[in-house]
Amino acid sequence: MGKTRFFSGKVLAAVLLGLSAFMILGGIRIYVMSGLSNHQLELFTIILLLIVLPGFLVVLVWRHQEQKILRQQEVAIEFLQNSQRRYKYLFRNNPVPMWIYRVSDLKFLEVNQAAIEKYGYSKNEFASMDLTQIRPPSDIDLVIDEINKPRPEYYRPPGLWKHQLRDGRTIEVEIHSHRLDYNGEKAALAMAYDVTERETEVKDLWDNAPCGYHTLDSELNIVRMNNTELQWLGYSADEVVNKMKITDLLLPAGKRNLLEGFENLLQQGGVKDIENEFIRKDGSILPVLLTVKVIRNQDGSLAQIRATVVDNTILRSARYDRDEKFRMVAENSFDEIFMFDMSLNYTYVSPAVLKLRGYTVEEAMNQSITAGMTPASGILASRLIREQMELVYANPLPRLDPITIELEILCKDGSTVWTEVKCGFVYGIDGKPIGALGIIRDIGERKHMVEELIRSRDKAEESDRLKSAFLANMSHEIRTPLNAIVGFSDLLNQENDPAEKDKYVGAINNGADLLLQILEDILLISRIDTGELIIRPVSISISSLFSELEKQLRATILKKCPEGQTLAVAVDKGKCPDIISLDETRFKIIMNNLFDNGVKFTSTGKITIGYGPGCARNVVRFFVRDTGIGIREDQQELIFERFRKGDHSLSRRFGGTGLGLAISKSLAEIMGGTMGVISKVGKGSEFWFELPVDPNLN
Ligand code: ADP
Repeated sequence: MGKTRFFSGKVLAAVLLGLSAFMILGGIRIYVMSGLSNHQLELFTIILLLIVLPGFLVVLVWRHQEQKILRQQEVAIEFLQNSQRRYKYLFRNNPVPMWIYRVSDLKFLEVNQAAIEKYGYSKNEFASMDLTQIRPPSDIDLVIDEINKPRPEYYRPPGLWKHQLRDGRTIEVEIHSHRLDYNGEKAALAMAYDVTERETEVKDLWDNAPCGYHTLDSELNIVRMNNTELQWLGYSADEVVNKMKITDLLLPAGKRNLLEGFENLLQQGGVKDIENEFIRKDGSILPVLLTVKVIRNQDGSLAQIRATVVDNTILRSARYDRDEKFRMVAENSFDEIFMFDMSLNYTYVSPAVLKLRGYTVEEAMNQSITAGMTPASGILASRLIREQMELVYANPLPRLDPITIELEILCKDGSTVWTEVKCGFVYGIDGKPIGALGIIRDIGERKHMVEELIRSRDKAEESDRLKSAFLANMSHEIRTPLNAIVGFSDLLNQENDPAEKDKYVGAINNGADLLLQILEDILLISRIDTGELIIRPVSISISSLFSELEKQLRATILKKCPEGQTLAVAVDKGKCPDIISLDETRFKIIMNNLFDNGVKFTSTGKITIGYGPGCARNVVRFFVRDTGIGIREDQQELIFERFRKGDHSLSRRFGGTGLGLAISKSLAEIMGGTMGVISKVGKGSEFWFELPVDPNLN
């Protein structure tokens, strides 16, 4: 085309020159023959120049352009030739074996030197061969399939193949190829990278890795499994690969877990460190830790599932050991052990909960933590938990010491029990708190003992104080009758009047009686304390006993009441068997003490002694009722304690040791009975005691 232009440029110049020459010659002829005037000649010359000169100019520009294009074409041709030379050089001398083959019959069209050297065939031999001849026979169908697969015109992802050399050796090659036009034919350029060593290394790694690898297809068939895993399971590759599904290796629970979680696995694209168990060929169990990855095709469909398998035996046995120890401790502990998570839900409650609170483990697990406490303890526990949670969330790193509190816990039967709760946070492997662990100990008995001890201490202190008061009082009580005895004895010597002498003797007798009473009380109480007092019951008629007591009571009134003061006496005999078994002496001591007090604390009215009702329960109730000063309610229990007097000012007025009621109560109890009082200040009192009777006697 360039040539045509160049040629037409020359023709155009020649035509232009011819036309110019023709016009010049024509002008000269016209001038010579027609004798043109100067003026006409000038005009003619100008017209001539206007035609000829632009024509020249156009021809010159044209020429110039043509030469430029020519030069560019020469450069391009040279570049092409250079590039062809370079590519030929690159192809021929490339250290990577390369060849060009015809797509229609797979015949080699070109091979480079590296291919000749690697495969051992000469250039001429290659020229008569096709691609299938450098493949192991078993691969030929695969190759043809692969080449015929629809694919983009020039792109082919690299593939791994086996090639056979002339000497029979097989090598692993990674083939990169792309289509090209070779002298108008459809061909392809292929490059073969020898990866035999790399593949051996990878295979070695795959097979002998310290962990298991397997690959599953979309139907969960095992399509690959490395030697490590095969060895662990005791199978050969032939027994497993394309023969078994992964589910054939799982226990029913593991199989269920896999199938239930399969959708999830596909969605997430994989899972990490999932525990499961494989069944070995010999039936034993292999605990495993699985990391699974889902491989998808370009269209998103499931291609494969690849898994890495770690033998979990050691980890599991260590954990089993630890868990077992914890279980043994927790399940056999007398104390309740519990764990809860950071959402305050129980994660463990030991069986001791049944004994401590009456709940089963399941019932306790479903309770909220503070629900099982009395309101006061619940508030205390909630506050402590809140404080501890705030502390641990604010700064989880410094581990908090466990806390110990006393809480009153509600039992299933509605009763409560005092417990000591020791509780502290449990930290995860990352150092962050994951929950809390605590121990609940029943301290009901301990608390009761402490309270008892405090009561005893207070009582001992009180008793000590009372003893001191008693001693002070006793010195007064003893001194009074002694003074009377000593004083009136002296007077007796000096007195001659018989009537006066009788009075003094009476006073001396009274003093001696009181002194005797005091000493008897003290002796009796010490015998009660040392347990020397022996009860000797005898059969006795209760009616005659009370007749005798009535007489004694009248005598006491006569003796003890100030002159002019009289008290009525009544005997209230209830319905009761007449013969009962009693220690008469002790019984009389009690009755005497009671009506002595009745007389002492009653100025007007009457003293009633009596018995019954109460016999239906095989006990007889005895009582001494007066219309005296009465006893304040807060004093009614205290007066039965030793050395205790209802009111000191009163007692001083009425005298007494403060031992009468204590002795009476102790005697009643030694005889198997009880004693109490019903009283109203200003109205009077009824002291009663109940004694068991022997029903066989009636
Ligand atoms: P006391 O020797 O002081 O009488 P008791 O042990 O017999 O010792 O009585 C203790 C206290 O009980 C008395 O000091 C008195 O305050 C009160 N008391 C006992 N009996 C009566 C009664 N019948 N009426 C009023 N108070 C009584």
